[in-house]
Amino acid sequence: MLNLVFFGKPGAGKGTQAAIIKEKFNLVHLSTGDLFRYNMKNDTPLGQLAKSYIDAGNLVPDQVTIDMLEDAVLKNKDAKGFIFDGFPRTDAQAEALDELMKRLQMKIDATIALEADDDILVERLLNRGLTSGRSDDQDESKIRNRFDEYTAKTAPLRSFYTEQSKFHEIQGVGSVDEITSRILTVIESL
Ligand code: AMP
Repeated sequence: MLNLVFFGKPGAGKGTQAAIIKEKFNLVHLSTGDLFRYNMKNDTPLGQLAKSYIDAGNLVPDQVTIDMLEDAVLKNKDAKGFIFDGFPRTDAQAEALDELMKRLQMKIDATIALEADDDILVERLLNRGLTSGRSDDQDESKIRNRFDEYTAKTAPLRSFYTEQSKFHEIQGVGSVDEITSRILTVIESL
């Protein structure tokens, strides 16, 4: 099995790269942002609950997110591995993911962090907002709030994974192919 966490600020390219790496290794790509957006589009109770947080650029509460993620993993028990994209984003989520992995006799092999400057990310997100229709991509103050959430709650996970010798940082600026090959170098080193 190969289980990867894709880590990085909004706009760092996690989703783009996850879609490519998933194909190469036949993995299941679980994006909590995509799962929330699917639920919002279908107006499910979960989608209704998540909407106000997402629209404001705040994190959805931990237990809601953890339950949703666990459910998605359990639905894909026969997978060759997973890419967790946008999860974990808090200490509690990281602990819950480790516990889930243990319970299923699985483990996280690596956390791959995509790095880029805020100004580049804001530009990418505003551009994406022109076509994605995502309200959280269309307003610079919401984007900056997502960065603040990341800095306060998600960035500290760097030490959580560094302590487990699983944190691999790569430069997230360059062509899509260049970034993919940086990720492949990390995977080959595992
Ligand atoms: P993303 O598509 O990963 O940028 O996520 C979009 C939004 O969904 C975030 O700004 C949060 O509101 C919510 N979200 C996605 N993943 C998580 C998570 N792991 N924990 C809490 N909220 C999340």
